Amino acid sequence: MTATTDPYQDLRDGVRALCAEFPPEYHRRIDAERGYPDAFVEALTRAGWMAALIPQDYGGSGLGLTEASVIMEEINRAGGNSGACHGQMYNMNTLVRHGSEEQRRRILPKLASGELRLQSMGVTEPTTGTDTTKIKTTAVKKGDRYVINGQKVWISRVRHSDLMILLARTTPLAEVTKKSEGLSIFLVDIREAMGSGMEVRPIPNMVNHETNELFFDDLEIPEENLIGEEGQGFRYILTGLNAERALIAAECIGDGYWFTDKVTAYVKEREVFGRPIGQNQGVQFPIAEAFIEIEAANLMRYKACALFDAGQPCGAEANMAKYLAAKASWEAANACIQFHGGFGFACEYDVERKFRETRLYQVAPISTNLILSYVAEHVLGLPRSF
Ligand SMILES: Cc1cc2nc3c(=O)[nH]c(=O)nc-3n(C[C@H](O)[C@H](O)[C@H](O)COP(=O)(O)OP(=O)(O)OC[C@H]3O[C@@H](n4cnc5c(N)ncnc54)[C@H](O)[C@@H]3O)c2cc1C
Repeated sequence: MTATTDPYQDLRDGVRALCAEFPPEYHRRIDAERGYPDAFVEALTRAGWMAALIPQDYGGSGLGLTEASVIMEEINRAGGNSGACHGQMYNMNTLVRHGSEEQRRRILPKLASGELRLQSMGVTEPTTGTDTTKIKTTAVKKGDRYVINGQKVWISRVRHSDLMILLARTTPLAEVTKKSEGLSIFLVDIREAMGSGMEVRPIPNMVNHETNELFFDDLEIPEENLIGEEGQGFRYILTGLNAERALIAAECIGDGYWFTDKVTAYVKEREVFGRPIGQNQGVQFPIAEAFIEIEAANLMRYKACALFDAGQPCGAEANMAKYLAAKASWEAANACIQFHGGFGFACEYDVERKFRETRLYQVAPISTNLILSYVAEHVLGLPRSF
């Protein structure tokens, strides 16, 4: 979108101004230290951006997923990485849409003020992977509490969050008619759970993305922390997963523009064989192709967000937006690193960092193959393959 037709320009300007206070050197240093961008997330919270999705009655700004996606896009476009804080955005709607009035009153104002962070969602398990309905973590009702046992893997930002949304099985798989039934979601108070039934083991990884293994051994959760109706959790968690896919599509679009801006500037300047390398069509075409794909992915991202904000089904669009945007940003990343030559590998150019960061989105939060499989089965009506 051009500046004159973009209805989100004011929002972009606000986020850009904040991001400008955290230049590439800041994000580079945090990455090298494998640290957490505390000051950056704190500034986003103080400015109200992390409370974008909280309704005004609960202290937030009552914006939609579309606006939230613009915030995330701008962070990535400015050279940062929304992975440090996007959990609060995609978890928020799960609580706003499916939480009780008591839960909303108890938690949302504290999230809006920054007193609490809701940055984590625990779904993936080591032995079941993408086959989510087969998860083995159980929640068994005992009096006024649920007792949790099991294990999760790759759970992000647990050490920088106060609350986590956890998916667990409340009715054994053998006793339900549909495998998506009998799952429930809970709010876990991470501060209380750590050392009292939940053990957290960090997983060092390729990107500076705080991930962890979680072990549950008789963790007790008060029954008032069950979100919505028992047994309906899979349906609720899809709200969070669809929001996550649309937001990550926007982040990939931010990355994509960062790569195309960066490489375009570089190939105009860099002279080899007596002329700018950007004068060669072999250099121009991959950059132009990536740019076209980013623009196209952007349309699907807005479509997915608009459907989500209208409370309409958006599973296909959220998945397709994430597929297209992750692919486009990866192509842009490849063109950017390639045409920077050796300098693409130098940390001070930030290309190698952003290259690693955007690569993640071919695999998480859902792998490209699983999106293709979703579209084949649920959109095209092809026979179920698993
Ligand atoms: C940095 C990072 C952060 C993460 N954060 C979170 C988090 O906060 N919360 C959370 O719950 N999870 C999180 N995850 C987990 C992430 O969602 C999973 O890694 C992802 O969904 C893939 O699941 P898996 O790793 O178990 O892969 P698997 O399910 O084991 O699949 C491995 C590969 O096999 C292929 N594959 C599998 N089945 C099929 C099939 N039927 N047809 C074709 N191909 C197939 C896929 O291409 C996939 O890439 C995170 C992961 C990473 C790496």
